[in-house]
Amino acid sequence: MIDDDLAAALRQFAARIAALDPPGSPTVVEVTVGGTPVALTGSAARALVEAALAYHDPRDRGACDHCGSRRLDDNFLCADCRQPSGVFGQLIRERAARYEGPPPALDA
Ligand SMILES: [Zn+2]
Repeated sequence: MIDDDLAAALRQFAARIAALDPPGSPTVVEVTVGGTPVALTGSAARALVEAALAYHDPRDRGACDHCGSRRLDDNFLCADCRQPSGVFGQLIRERAARYEGPPPALDA
């Protein structure tokens, strides 16, 4: 379960940081995940804040130029308004506007 994974990851993170603290450093925050308490020293709590703020979700491709949605796919196509976003989207729209269909078939 994700609760167990999260609790284990938090416990390992807290232990890794706390090992760098002076012996006897007090717990300043206790986070409970799925009923399991994880004790954080001050430095572990600060490290967790920094880690959370530095995290970048690989799915985060910015905001759609058209509707502001943040749900852009790998091709910067918006899942909400279905418009391509960004410079790549602009290039696609310009090409689509110039496209006149396939050339006529040559009858030989
Ligand atoms: Zn959009």
